Amino acid sequence: MAFESLTEKLQNVFKKLRSKGRLTESDVKSALKEVKMALLEADVSFKVVKQFINSVQEQAVGQDVMNGLNPGQMVIKIVNDELVKLMGSETTEITLKQGNEITVVMMVGLQGAGKTTTAAKIAGKLKAKGRKPLLVACDVYRPAAITQLQVNGEKQGIEVFAMGDKKKPVDIAKAAVEHARGQGMNVVIVDTAGRLHIDEDMMQELIAIREAVHVDQSLLVVDAMTGQDAVNVAETFNEKVGIDGVVLTKLDGDTRGGAALSIKAICGKPIFYVGMGEKLSDLEQFYPDRMASRILGMGDVMSLIEKAQANLDESKAKEMEQKMRKAQFGFDDYLESMNQMKKMGGISSVLGMMPGLGGKMKDLEGMVDEKDLARKEAMIYSMTPAERSNPDLLNPSRKNRIAKGAGVTVAEVNRFVKQFEQTRKMMKQMPGMMKGKKGKLGGF
Ligand code: GDP
Repeated sequence: MAFESLTEKLQNVFKKLRSKGRLTESDVKSALKEVKMALLEADVSFKVVKQFINSVQEQAVGQDVMNGLNPGQMVIKIVNDELVKLMGSETTEITLKQGNEITVVMMVGLQGAGKTTTAAKIAGKLKAKGRKPLLVACDVYRPAAITQLQVNGEKQGIEVFAMGDKKKPVDIAKAAVEHARGQGMNVVIVDTAGRLHIDEDMMQELIAIREAVHVDQSLLVVDAMTGQDAVNVAETFNEKVGIDGVVLTKLDGDTRGGAALSIKAICGKPIFYVGMGEKLSDLEQFYPDRMASRILGMGDVMSLIEKAQANLDESKAKEMEQKMRKAQFGFDDYLESMNQMKKMGGISSVLGMMPGLGGKMKDLEGMVDEKDLARKEAMIYSMTPAERSNPDLLNPSRKNRIAKGAGVTVAEVNRFVKQFEQTRKMMKQMPGMMKGKKGKLGGF
């Protein structure tokens, strides 16, 4: 999957930052140096990386720490926001005309990028939204493309307009628009011919089609696996033909993903969709914010923080945070935190949004079973106050007594105590989540 290595590297950088209570300027500098290396290795364009790092650095220095975030988290937030900005901030869609007026969409790109497949995928999406699309086979130089489009169109019940490989693409496109008009169709998606490399004839042909049928939206399809080349292709197509948006294909593959981060910044055009596989359903709308979260491996951390801030009882949260920091978190606090989490919409919903926990959800399943909470409460109520505040006291004979008192087996007590220790560790890793200090970022 794309971005795996980038995500891993960034997470390592952030882990180091999070473990620090205060950040010095050199902490931030060295962290950003690692972020820079990670982005370059992910094949993000050098120019983009440079601007990105400068912008993060500028904001990190002299930044007020927001309520509820520690300095490390603050830097992560800045990186997150900059990533979103880099990818265009807003989700952009193909602009379609209203009602029965025909919107002509032209698919352009190099051979093998995924134009024909994507044309069919987009037609399927538009059909599902109630549009009446027509697919047009203008790739006359690769006869297999015509059949490929016909097969894919048929699978989705979408008509494909083709005139074989002897007619000129411009004429086919014109006839197709006429046909669409006659049939009351409102979107015409023209699949054009690609070449292995950028070539002047291809560009001229695209311009001719654009003029002949008044193309409303030109969509460039680029292959994410080609990294920086994808960005160069986007720049050239935009200069020569003019494009409105980009579809980045093969993001499901083993790509380093840098193209997704560079395209908007370099050619100024947004990514509309990303291709996530060969199946016709494997096309996703591109959301810059979700992509940033995914790249950072953060889950939906911002929503979690917002939720925590909106719901937690401030003084209790502060007290709890102190305890977490000092690792004095005991069973009573566990009960309290479970109650707080319930208020936030359930334990599993909170854990699901927590950074880095995606893959570890299974280990934590025992902790998120809300039905199980009553048994845990019973075990906690069978503990002495000293045991509740200091779990280290729990030797075998005490556990035996607790099991009897709660009406559970010793094995269950052991399991719970072990899980509790895991939770304690986890909570130590996320201090500052609750409402906390306000002040300057570390040493700045
Ligand atoms: P065209 O020459 O630009 O029309 O490219 P095609 O549509 O023929 O696609 C080339 C190859 O890439 C085909 O084997 C497609 O199945 C494959 N392909 C297209 N999009 C994706 C994608 O998002 N993910 C993966 N894994 N393969 C894709």
